Amino acid sequence: KDLIVSFGEMLIDFVPTVSGVSLAEAPGFIKAPGGAPANVAIAVARIGGRAAFVGKLGDDEFGRMLAGILRDNGVDDSGVSFDTGARTALAFVTLRSDGEREFMFYRNPSADMLLTEGELNLDVIKSAAVFHYGSISLITEPCRSAHLKAMEVAREAGALLSYDPNLRLPLWPSAEEAREQILSIWDQADIIKVSDVELEFLTGQESVEDDVVLTLWRPAFKLLVVTLGEKGCKYYTKDFRGSLEGYAVDTVDTTGAGDAFVGAMLRKIVADQTVLQVEGKLREVLKFANACGAITTTEKGAIPALPTEPAAVELLKRH
Ligand code: ATP
Repeated sequence: KDLIVSFGEMLIDFVPTVSGVSLAEAPGFIKAPGGAPANVAIAVARIGGRAAFVGKLGDDEFGRMLAGILRDNGVDDSGVSFDTGARTALAFVTLRSDGEREFMFYRNPSADMLLTEGELNLDVIKSAAVFHYGSISLITEPCRSAHLKAMEVAREAGALLSYDPNLRLPLWPSAEEAREQILSIWDQADIIKVSDVELEFLTGQESVEDDVVLTLWRPAFKLLVVTLGEKGCKYYTKDFRGSLEGYAVDTVDTTGAGDAFVGAMLRKIVADQTVLQVEGKLREVLKFANACGAITTTEKGAIPALPTEPAAVELLKRH
């Protein structure tokens, strides 16, 4: 069993043709397919793993284009449903010159929010070795119930559950609601990856020290990872903890780095689950994941920038 099933949203980011402008100033936009869970599925496939994506798209040009991108990248799309009444989600995203990311979402509601329990492809979910998800699919019904059901089915079928909360604050009614809902499924995961920004949001403390991170630890966890952007990552298991430096590269756009990291990590875990028990093995896996994250920052956009295994191995050799 080595299938990684990623559940959640797939959408189109519209990003400005020039950098460092506000959404209002942007002279034009280009399509950048995205959605963190979809990026993770493609990241897995790009490095030779088996991946499936489960979610809902609009039965429109953009939805069919996105399903085609999954297939072209070797991701099983048999868990994708299409909504005839709602559009594929769109987001306009820019990194302004002051370094702030500005988002504008078109989800009123979008197809991804309308996935129902009845539409879940249970055969795909039951064949998962790892079932991976975020938190955006928890925001509104009916997708929220479908998400919870899919987690339950995957767990009963013996999958490891992997959670990357992927905080998108503007999508939630309030920060309190976001925190509460993100944490409502916290204890059920086996593997969690948070960024330093999410750690601060969830703990209310501006620190990545062990005592702060460990407030998010639960006894049943197999692995908790905190990613630190260019500084690499920290890892925590029941038996050991530590950190790994990142790899210096010529960064142009960090979109998708976290997804590349997660895809690489999960791909290596399904290949050999003992990496969760043996620190030396886990460190090798996380070095590989750091390399995959780093490479993803060297090109614009998430999906085009996701590395192949040889590219990541090459970066590791150079260090
Ligand atoms: P995103 O939301 O942009 O996909 P994230 O915030 O979830 O990413 P990050 O911590 O930014 O996750 O990045 C994940 C991993 O990618 C890091 O642990 C690191 O290994 C690598 N990485 C990210 N940014 C850089 C960078 N500028 N230079 C080198 N490596 C990077």
